[in-house]
Amino acid sequence: MTYDVAVLGMGAAGLQAAITAARKKASTLVLGKPEDSALWSAEVENYFGVPRVKGRELVSIAMEQASAFGAELFKEDAIALSKEEGVFTITSESGRLIQSKTLVFASGISRKKLNIPGEKEFFGKGVSYCASCDCNFYKGVPVAIIGEGSEAAISAELMTNYASRVYWIVETPQASEHLKERAVSAGVELVAAKPKEIVGDSKVAALILSNGRRLAVNGVFIELGARSSTDMAMDLGIIPDPEGTIKVDRNCRTGVEAIFACGDITGKPWQVAKAVGEGCVAGTEAAAMARGV
Ligand SMILES: Cc1cc2nc3c(=O)[nH]c(=O)nc-3n(C[C@H](O)[C@H](O)[C@H](O)COP(=O)(O)OP(=O)(O)OC[C@H]3O[C@@H](n4cnc5c(N)ncnc54)[C@H](O)[C@@H]3O)c2cc1C
Repeated sequence: MTYDVAVLGMGAAGLQAAITAARKKASTLVLGKPEDSALWSAEVENYFGVPRVKGRELVSIAMEQASAFGAELFKEDAIALSKEEGVFTITSESGRLIQSKTLVFASGISRKKLNIPGEKEFFGKGVSYCASCDCNFYKGVPVAIIGEGSEAAISAELMTNYASRVYWIVETPQASEHLKERAVSAGVELVAAKPKEIVGDSKVAALILSNGRRLAVNGVFIELGARSSTDMAMDLGIIPDPEGTIKVDRNCRTGVEAIFACGDITGKPWQVAKAVGEGCVAGTEAAAMARGV
């Protein structure tokens, strides 16, 4: 089946886009993890007409609304995107292939830092937040990847092509079994511990773990969350700005045919009201384009 609208992101913008598109009778699919939405941990007191409310309550209700209007919800990250003959193919982290006529990027922004000693000091000197950008600098040396989701699994597998040894520091993997198995068969060593400190002189020399173990590494990749949607956007010809935001016009069009974006990923203000407003516009426009009305 080819969906009319596929939405990347199960937060405020993505769920509103899905509610709007599904209500307009477009066949709609939403990918993402609700608990990874910025809204999940928020306490919101400035959203129109709603008294102080837990963000996770808004997300849960919106998921029910989206389902009630007919949208399908897959609680998985997208890890690759491509387009052929006018149809997008999304690869999900379990390896599922999903096809859609239009795409809506609603994958938010990553504000995630580890906040451990050494992280700030060694940023750019062995600490990186992007394995796919910096992999070449770590040829033949040992590295550690920190993170529990798909981004960490994919980065760990990628780094086996460059580094002499790859440790994946992960207590409770959230990435799919499929991605975990791929990383392990590529030679990644899983270490079940929490990172405690990054140490070195002028550059990273080791990662200290909460159990006292010292891993001699020259690179520490902090990869928290899902595969970056800006990486995937670039695969489709969208050039995000240096802050990683995707520019859109007032119809939430990205400039690339049939691709829309909404919410935090399009820039400030990072607020629920803006995310929901843009989600409504993106859902309306994507449904209209897919259904030719
Ligand atoms: C602590 C905190 C407090 C806040 N308080 C307020 C407040 O009081 N008022 C207010 O208006 N705003 C507040 N915000 C901001 C608000 O939460 C965001 O503006 C809003 O959630 C943005 O919605 P979004 O849909 O763009 O992104 P998000 O809600 O962050 O959702 C992003 C979604 O994209 C998904 N995703 C990411 N990568 C992928 C991928 N590769 N494939 C598939 N899915 C993917 C994630 O799983 C997630 O479901 C707060 C934020 C935080 C962190």
